[in-house]
Amino acid sequence: MEGLMQEAALLTSATLTHAAENYPETQIATAQDGAVVHRTSYLEADARARRLASSLSSLELAGEDVFFGALGFNSWRLFEVMHAVPGSGRILHTANPRLHETHLSYTVRHANDQAVFVDLDCLALAQTIQPLCPDVKHWILLCDPQEMPTKTTLPKPLCYEELIANGDPSYAWPALDERNASTLCFTSATTGDPKGVLYSHRGTVLNILTIAGRNGWNLGRGDCVLSAAPFFHCNGWGMPYMAPMVGAKLVLPGRNVSARATLALIRGENVTHSGGVPTVLTDLVGEVEADGGGFANLRHLWTGATAPPEQLLRRLEALGPKVTHAFGMTETTQALTVSVPDPNASATAQRAEQLTQGQPVFLSGVRAVNDAGEVLAKDGQSIGHLQVRGPSVATCYYRRPDMTPVTPDGWLETGDIGTVGAAGQLRITDRAKDAIKSGGEWISSVLIENIATDCPGVSEAACVGVEHPRWQERPVLLVVPQPGIELDETAIRAHLEGNIATWWMPDAIRFVEALPKNSVGKVLKAQLRDQHRGILVDALRQADDHSCDH
Ligand code: ADP
Repeated sequence: MEGLMQEAALLTSATLTHAAENYPETQIATAQDGAVVHRTSYLEADARARRLASSLSSLELAGEDVFFGALGFNSWRLFEVMHAVPGSGRILHTANPRLHETHLSYTVRHANDQAVFVDLDCLALAQTIQPLCPDVKHWILLCDPQEMPTKTTLPKPLCYEELIANGDPSYAWPALDERNASTLCFTSATTGDPKGVLYSHRGTVLNILTIAGRNGWNLGRGDCVLSAAPFFHCNGWGMPYMAPMVGAKLVLPGRNVSARATLALIRGENVTHSGGVPTVLTDLVGEVEADGGGFANLRHLWTGATAPPEQLLRRLEALGPKVTHAFGMTETTQALTVSVPDPNASATAQRAEQLTQGQPVFLSGVRAVNDAGEVLAKDGQSIGHLQVRGPSVATCYYRRPDMTPVTPDGWLETGDIGTVGAAGQLRITDRAKDAIKSGGEWISSVLIENIATDCPGVSEAACVGVEHPRWQERPVLLVVPQPGIELDETAIRAHLEGNIATWWMPDAIRFVEALPKNSVGKVLKAQLRDQHRGILVDALRQADDHSCDH
């Protein structure tokens, strides 16, 4: 017998409708370089998004599945686009302006974008990729009519505000099938070509429903969230949908997310919640420590995308905000596990748990398997290949089913190595491609980096495996000192000693000014491995030559 309950489809448009009806006055503030340049409300954003959605029909684009690209940084207009396109049954490809133009144009062609929205500050980039994207019929500039460029190589660009002005104010969001595609995001190409992940309305809404609460982002009415993660990275960690769903004020920072600009917004807009990858938070905490002005009302920070060093968590929490560490992939919509330590546990136990990647959110699961695919014990010790599942996890890559990393029993292979604890706590010890295998045994680069970063005077550290004639591979540590600090190798070695197994000690330690990073701030370890590939072999050869001289 079926239950006697009404139906409500899980659609992204429901989040904005809900906000317009229940939190009509709640603000969306857009900034440039740390200063707010535009304010709107959920009521107005909903009205404009519906007008835009109705206008899109006038573009006469062909086919059942119509893809639009969006090339820009978080702003009120991009927020409207994030709602208008999927809300009206089209699919939005959130293009990444920080990708190299070869990768970017590949994603536009691969997505089959028929029209692309372009921020004025991405105009030059759009002009560069336009000849490489011959199937794009319309380039829509996110600006007022008077801001339309008089000279551009884009063919007959359209004006966004004119589309909105000509839109139908009575347009109602259609009742779509919740399993339909809503947005398309590409992986950030840390380890290869970007791969497309096609999100559904249902997966997106289930994701925000399961993660908004206290076992996740801890977000609700009256909060103010600075949505620093760009919308092209996992839909801005779901914020364009989650903030209206819970009625939180939204602050959109534009292109400049430097520590100084971010801090100005945190203080000026009374931001209560924000997040960022560890490198971004490292810069932010440095800025606050330097000026001594504190974090104002900021209560909560999220971090993930790479493992945060313990030192960073300590420094941030000493200044007030609580830090929530989460794990997610483009393939999992955004966070799939969140570390929310038991508040009744000791401070030490809570810190230890905070450093794990956390427990799965409702309806999701994690497991570790060995090379033969056998599921390993959940004991926090058995290291294996990590796999995940859930209603917001991809079943395959968009138009690349040949690359599908899903097991026959429906688990997605993350490409990460680690353990699962008795209460489901995930611990990543490495990305499989970055793992160091010395004499056949694993060395965790993440752990070495974490301890090295704890050494006074160290700003960042990256550990990579390089060629060794005897052990096949040995660790080399690259260290970025804090500004103005002179560090020497002995201090770092002394700090590592006793905290790691003796055979994990890096064979070489090098000081560098900066680490190469990708478009979302992850360290490009492949590049570091290439740069330092021969250093141990060369050093051993020189030592041999030297001993022959004597
Ligand atoms: P890309 O694969 O191109 O880097 P993603 O943004 O999808 O793009 O990255 C997903 C990967 O990021 C995961 O497989 C994992 O290696 C890493 N990752 C995400 N969150 C964490 C975390 N909290 N700790 C360690 N690694 C993480």
